[in-house]
Amino acid sequence: MTVINPIEEAEGLADKLAGLDLAGRLSFVAGLGGRVVFTTSLGIEDQVITAEIGTHRLPIDVVTLQTGRLFAETLKLIDETESQYDIHIVKYEPEQADIDAYAAKYGMNGFYESVEARHACCGVRKLKPLARALAGATIWITGLRRGQSANRAETPFAEYDAERHLLKVNPLADWDIDKINAFVADNSVPVNPMHARGYPSIGCEPCTRAIKPGEPERAGRWWWEQDEKRECGLHVAEEAASSVAQQ
Ligand code: SF4
Repeated sequence: MTVINPIEEAEGLADKLAGLDLAGRLSFVAGLGGRVVFTTSLGIEDQVITAEIGTHRLPIDVVTLQTGRLFAETLKLIDETESQYDIHIVKYEPEQADIDAYAAKYGMNGFYESVEARHACCGVRKLKPLARALAGATIWITGLRRGQSANRAETPFAEYDAERHLLKVNPLADWDIDKINAFVADNSVPVNPMHARGYPSIGCEPCTRAIKPGEPERAGRWWWEQDEKRECGLHVAEEAASSVAQQ
């Protein structure tokens, strides 16, 4: 098995990926060697990537974080996507002991009470399962886009994730939502029906609400918090080793 150096690859990969279409980007990355993992939240961006992986039978592991608090629509979409593309989406779940410890300390829905409690919940239900999902991976593919929020405006095509010592690739970094929607329509990609009901970004049920016209795409995530940069920690490198988690 080829072993890549994620630091060296990140330096040159952005230019290579910029000149390729999405299938080309994914295919190139899949060919770099090692275990390549795509984490999907079943959001519309992630569905576009899953469609390309499934259609082109790319050797990329598709995984999701089954937090135990997802919408029924999201769970249904997992099944539909597996069926349409004849793929298996591996579900990583939190440990029951961690959930019990969280509930004992904060209450099952204690995440509304403080940022600390919210980060702790994301840590148990997202970050720890993510660590297991990425164990042994050399490359981590995400559906991050620059247009999703101000916090993601500088998203590169490829970066070295020092916390996890792997190459993080964001093949949709330069796509806007119109291009996403056009791809979905042209390729009959299954998407969460909640997007059409005002939910551009969908996470756990108790922490996601519909947005109002004119609000940023991610305004419905942890809406009760004041920090404009609120995330769950999945994509916040300096916090990845702590207890935070956001997708
Ligand atoms: S999004 Fe909400 S319910 Fe889901 S893990 Fe984070 S705090 Fe917990």
